Amino acid sequence: MRDLPLFPVTTVGSWPRSPEMQRALARKQRGQLAAEEFDRIADAAVLEALRAQEAAGCDIVTDGEQRRDNFYSFVAEKLDGVRLMSLAEMLDVVEDKEGFRRILDTLDVPAFSISNPTCVGRIRRRQPLAADEYAFLRRHTDRPIKVPLPGPYILTRAMWVKEVTRAVYATKEDLGDDVVAVLREEAFALRDAGVDFIQFDEPVLTEIVFTQGQTRTFMCAALAARKDPAEELEFAVDLVNRVVKGLDGVRTGVHVCRGNWSRNEETLLRGSYRPLVPYLERMQVRQLVLEYATPRAGDLVAVPGKELGLGVVNPRTAEVEPPGAIVARVREALLQVPADRIFLNPDCGFGTFASRPMNAPEIARAKLQSVSQAAAQLRSEDPQATKSC
Ligand SMILES: [Zn+2]
Repeated sequence: MRDLPLFPVTTVGSWPRSPEMQRALARKQRGQLAAEEFDRIADAAVLEALRAQEAAGCDIVTDGEQRRDNFYSFVAEKLDGVRLMSLAEMLDVVEDKEGFRRILDTLDVPAFSISNPTCVGRIRRRQPLAADEYAFLRRHTDRPIKVPLPGPYILTRAMWVKEVTRAVYATKEDLGDDVVAVLREEAFALRDAGVDFIQFDEPVLTEIVFTQGQTRTFMCAALAARKDPAEELEFAVDLVNRVVKGLDGVRTGVHVCRGNWSRNEETLLRGSYRPLVPYLERMQVRQLVLEYATPRAGDLVAVPGKELGLGVVNPRTAEVEPPGAIVARVREALLQVPADRIFLNPDCGFGTFASRPMNAPEIARAKLQSVSQAAAQLRSEDPQATKSC
């Protein structure tokens, strides 16, 4: 692993896609764009996202997830046994049509922009999920690279549409076994290729504790939750731990937020991470990448033994947080977490869903620049600043 300064600056993963990139993704999905033409557009978009992060002072860069339609459903084209289903198709197959309509009503997401990666056959990794994305990025930067992957829990829950999946897997747990196998294969390939940081995205964990199984707010996992939140969280911990077992030589992390589908803060979930701590603590990853830039996240809750990817800017607002405010936030965190365990990042991606960027690239860049300035100030004040971690 490459050396890092104190308070390394990074992103959570996605970067806003340009209108051209959005069109290319849509045309590819409809089979109207040849792979070479898609790659030409995507390669350019990745390089633009990369240069923006470098210019803004990111110590760990990502490819901005430019080639993905969103952070989890992109796996459908890489795996055997998974098919993207539109909401209309889903409504056709699900038994509880009223319940499903209610979920759609509570969402502030354009329904046409979402398709669900549904398990319709045995799951198998036909091509890499992200190893090719990494290989391209590695050729164009010397900086440490983070690769975000959907976590095993969100994937299992999204893919399990019992009306169609039961014909292939008897239970959600059986499907989970194959999801774990696929993610392990990918994670070990990424580690062997030299990736610095693998982040598993598990945003739905907050939904389990905040809604106590009552309402479904994340489309991406709308259907398949158990009624008992504790049981569901145990299932998530077990899946994550099975994916990372023996995965040494690479930094691993889990990202948990409260949704990033709307700029309307009122529709996003609210609540402290506190009820999740007993579960997060047992996840065998090095870092927890958490949102703390809005009051919705509650007070900072340290998770013993873990690095903290501290969310210090809101990816959804136009206003750029000044470096001074970020420094103050980090000082608060330093009361609970040692300096060499704090990374700085936005609360979530700047473009979680391709067709709904949460911000303009200029603002994303300005926000990261502000984070970098804060990091520089903190390093200059800290006697350990030159020590790499
Ligand atoms: Zn997030």
